[in-house]
Amino acid sequence: MAAIDGLPPLREVIATHGIAAKKALGQNFLLDLNLTAKIARAAGDLGQCDVLEVGPGPGGLTRALLAEGARHVLAVEKDARCLPALAEIAAAWPGRLDVINGDALEVDAPAHLAPPIRVVANLPYNVGTELLVRWLTPPSWPPFWQSLTLMFQKEVADRIVATPGSKAYGRLALLAQWRCDARIVMTLPPEAFTPPPKIHSAVVHLTALPEPRYPADAKILNRIVAAGFNQRRKMLRASLKGIAPGMEAKLEAAGIAPTARAEEIPLEAFCALARIVAAG
Ligand code: SAM
Repeated sequence: MAAIDGLPPLREVIATHGIAAKKALGQNFLLDLNLTAKIARAAGDLGQCDVLEVGPGPGGLTRALLAEGARHVLAVEKDARCLPALAEIAAAWPGRLDVINGDALEVDAPAHLAPPIRVVANLPYNVGTELLVRWLTPPSWPPFWQSLTLMFQKEVADRIVATPGSKAYGRLALLAQWRCDARIVMTLPPEAFTPPPKIHSAVVHLTALPEPRYPADAKILNRIVAAGFNQRRKMLRASLKGIAPGMEAKLEAAGIAPTARAEEIPLEAFCALARIVAAG
């Protein structure tokens, strides 16, 4: 494909700069620029946005984000071997790409960005869930970002969008869906990556709601959900016993059968219970 940025194909970039994939860094690269363009478009209109990209690697997705018109891209990459390739991209798009060589778990990315901000990343699988949980649990809401468009193992993506009664339903679904609209926008087979991972992958798009879908105190909701799903086979009257006195009556007041299990309970009912617990 003739790239619109005039930069060489990604296989050539990898060969020139000696960026052989390292498993320890979760490196499974996307080398098809049509595919990275599709992911960038799934993030929505980037025109007026700053974009945070975690783990740009040789820069396939970075190039797509810039070509799709991102106002400014901040790319945080741990692997210093990728820096010369990323510098070439920055030179092709003057003033629009900044690269930080560091660990995304430690870099204060929002300090380098101006709203509105979107996060787009083909995440290293070893830190993907931790980053997502951090982005979903900021000290205050709305968060620094407007949307997250993130690649995960398909199994993790399924847990993010899961609905009550399914095996994948649990803490991650409740955390994500309480304050976001979340949907899977693309699934990818192992062969889409170089080298191919063992599992299928999926891109999840999360849009931050202006305020939580149902009112609840974040800490209390989190405690209830954690206790409920830590012992997901137990009835709620047993698994939530330690949360507050008189739990059986509180469950009933929230419209939840005390004999039900966490995996059957919709988000709205968990929020109702959190409000009742907060009221004492
Ligand atoms: N975005 C590229 C693509 O789509 O081809 C590379 C994706 S690869 C799955 C994940 C990238 O994240 C790698 O380049 C890896 O070096 C980088 N990485 C791994 N752990 C990281 C961390 N803690 N902070 C920042 N980058 C990290």
